[in-house]
Amino acid sequence: MTLKVAIVSNHGLQSEKTERQLRKLLAENKIEIDQGHPEIVISVGGDGTLLSAFHRYNHLLDQVSFLGVHTGHLGFYTDWRDYEIPELVSSLKENRGESISYPLLDIRIEYQDDKPAKHFLALNESTIKRGNRTMVADVYLKGEIFERFRGDGLSISTPTGSTAYNKSVGGAVLHPSINAIQLAEIASLNNRVFRTLGSPLVISADEWMEIRLQDSNDYMITVDQLDIQKDHIAAVYYKIAHERIHFASFRHMDFWHRVKDAFIGED
Ligand code: NAP
Repeated sequence: MTLKVAIVSNHGLQSEKTERQLRKLLAENKIEIDQGHPEIVISVGGDGTLLSAFHRYNHLLDQVSFLGVHTGHLGFYTDWRDYEIPELVSSLKENRGESISYPLLDIRIEYQDDKPAKHFLALNESTIKRGNRTMVADVYLKGEIFERFRGDGLSISTPTGSTAYNKSVGGAVLHPSINAIQLAEIASLNNRVFRTLGSPLVISADEWMEIRLQDSNDYMITVDQLDIQKDHIAAVYYKIAHERIHFASFRHMDFWHRVKDAFIGED
């Protein structure tokens, strides 16, 4: 049967050039482009492009694998460079469906009024932040109050998202095969009166977090690159999703090499 792939590009100049070359070689090799029901989703751009591809195809997670071609600097979700399109197409032709899967973040937002709860999946993270005033939120672990947080906000990330926003706010970098999610504080108020753990916290697959907001009407909630409607939130629940993301694994760069390349560089 013919392999079906979809392409998601960020429409930068280099990405468009790469996409044209990719489309031409796919056609020559009789690999079908099917944007509706692909087996492999190829993102052409950066990590942000792969995040967009994930959100576009997150209703097909049990059927598709993702594959990233990067046209800029080294990416975390991108295993192929724009000058490697011929090798990529050869690998696609020999594809035997090998993939590697990583955890996702399950988010449920409950509202104070009768509005139905909303459900989301994140590949990187979800954040809850308050703009110009201190955010006050109770953090529950497995249904028990753990701490009252005061500060700018909280970030809850997956292991693959741990190198993104989480890292910027002092979270740990986790290997993506670890089945866990991480809570990191954003500028917490810590003094003799207000106290939080003050360090990132990692919970396991059978645990969950609940964030209950005080003064619930002026918060910003993000899910990866998306801003979520924020009115009158009662609580936000976070756990590891049942769904996982699959990456086509006929080539997969070692995670720690990638971390070294991105953040430390050559000796
Ligand atoms: P953006 O603000 O245009 O890009 C944010 C940067 O984060 C880009 O350089 C992107 O890489 C990189 N990135 C995304 N996922 C990553 C990952 N898993 N590991 C390492 N770096 C990663 O936003 P965007 O492209 O729409 O992406 C949204 C994501 O950006 C959010 O999920 C959040 O994690 C991240 N972000 C980070 C900060 C921060 O660190 N202060 C602030 C805002 C957003 P590419 O250039 O390859 O696309």
